[in-house]
Amino acid sequence: MSLTLEQINTASLPEAAALLDGLYEHSPWIAEAALAQRPFRSLAHLKQVMAQIVRDAGREPQLALIRAHPELAGKAMVSNTLTAESTHEQTKAGLTNCTPEEFARIQTLNADYNAKFGFPFILAVRGPRGTGLSKRDIIDTFARRLDNHPDFEVAECLRNIHRIVEIRLNDKFGVEPVLGNLVWDWQEALAQHSDPGYAEKGQLTVTYLTDAHRACAQRISRNMRDAGFDEVHVDAVGNVVARYRADRPNARTLLTGSHYDTVRNGGKYDGRLGIFTPMACVRELARQGLRLPFDIEVIGFAEEEGQRYKATFLGSGALVGQFDPAWLDQKDADGVTMRAAMQHAGLCVDDIASLRRNPADYLGFVEVHIEQGPVLNEIDLPLGIVTSINGSVRYLCEVIGMASHAGTTPMDRRRDAAVAVAELALYVEHRAMKDADSVGTIGILQVPNGSTNVVPGRCQFTLDLRAPTDAQRDAMVSDVLAELAAICKRRQLHHTLEETMRAAAAPSAPAWQQRWERAVSALGVPLHRMPSGAGHDAMKLHEIMPQAMLFVRGQNAGISHNPLESTTSDDMQLAVDAFSKLLDQLATEF
Ligand SMILES: [Zn+2]
Repeated sequence: MSLTLEQINTASLPEAAALLDGLYEHSPWIAEAALAQRPFRSLAHLKQVMAQIVRDAGREPQLALIRAHPELAGKAMVSNTLTAESTHEQTKAGLTNCTPEEFARIQTLNADYNAKFGFPFILAVRGPRGTGLSKRDIIDTFARRLDNHPDFEVAECLRNIHRIVEIRLNDKFGVEPVLGNLVWDWQEALAQHSDPGYAEKGQLTVTYLTDAHRACAQRISRNMRDAGFDEVHVDAVGNVVARYRADRPNARTLLTGSHYDTVRNGGKYDGRLGIFTPMACVRELARQGLRLPFDIEVIGFAEEEGQRYKATFLGSGALVGQFDPAWLDQKDADGVTMRAAMQHAGLCVDDIASLRRNPADYLGFVEVHIEQGPVLNEIDLPLGIVTSINGSVRYLCEVIGMASHAGTTPMDRRRDAAVAVAELALYVEHRAMKDADSVGTIGILQVPNGSTNVVPGRCQFTLDLRAPTDAQRDAMVSDVLAELAAICKRRQLHHTLEETMRAAAAPSAPAWQQRWERAVSALGVPLHRMPSGAGHDAMKLHEIMPQAMLFVRGQNAGISHNPLESTTSDDMQLAVDAFSKLLDQLATEF
């Protein structure tokens, strides 16, 4: 018999503690402390309370918790003295079935890890889908984490422990994230398509209108039809557009979706999670024969990342009438024009203008996206409410001084361009940190034709400055540029400045942000509001309709635009559940 939350909420304290026994390895104090905060509204709520207790416990109890765990494929496994839960997990990951070479490699890693950190390596070996990591993944992760800072590794071990507990809880309660697994599997299948040159290396790269890109469009279309959408088509720029009809004619439409193209050697969830999450919701509606008082339009945007052509947000931009016909003559690295690529893909460029949406037909736009940053992962929260997509501005700059002999030019007679930019870089860091949620980056900093023995006469660099509102961004920009001018004046240098990009901030529409907040609260998950540092399709739709986004926690410190990008099927399930709650609210409102 599986446990129920009702049992946990109503049992006496000792009984409830006994029911939760075995969650945190040899550490019953965590569940016992959590029970003081009953009643729990959901399993997600219980997990959150326990994670908070561990976070508040301080370093010594945290280290004791980590040390209560066995080594991977270690002595305890060999001598059969693991707990039942650990035996199950290590067996499921195939660790009881290592080749002699794998076993030797893991023992070396165990010894190195212990020597460096003083605690055992903890990894949730059942992985983000709960079905078990491969031994290859386990060994690679082990080797990678050896390079981490000790403080980070303590936190990463604790996060893995919480994930182990999450899976143990699912087992105890007989819960399976069925729709999260489905969303996971859709993404895994879609990731089988990758551009030539990357596919062979097992890397994921899907750029605009390549064979792999068109195969993705076909697969998403197939998934949409199977899910029960009434209409599915690929539009004139390659967007996959699916509509689930309302229970009445002439209803307005909820628009949602995200992009299916990727950066080179990217992750499987960036963009795609925002297509498949609503798709899972529509699949459930269709299975139950339910219609809502509004249409649901889910779009897989063909292009967001600007990898093959210098045109970002091409897919969502077309919906707001921002497709620039000049783009059609742009060539990719192989000299293929966008026009030729579109013709080859069977797309009719004459139809692009008609993709523009009439805002009066729409309720608004929502987008689910993997966070692509470390924040939610760090605070042990699965979902985040986006308050605004940061406004940004980029500059290409150069400081010009005087190149001179590195040996003969005294320090007080130099006009060193690179040192000036170094000084500016420190200022940018300091200035951005003064604001809440501003970020500033000098991503390129180079001395053209520099030499070891020459004082840099020129230094080229970029500035990327972002903030949740245009006013906050502009104040930072004006301070940074004033500082650049002041540094150059003091050092007798001059500089050039070219603005290469400017995007307005896209604050979430308050009513839509509140709908996400109510949806997340209804799941028993504490609210965390945050700006989006990255640009998203929602910022295009923002120009013609209200929008708000929901972020989903990423694993591996939230890394993105990287093959290590990951999230769990449990978190995907929560995203699906939140989206369903949002649909429920809209159904009562409109
Ligand atoms: Zn994205």
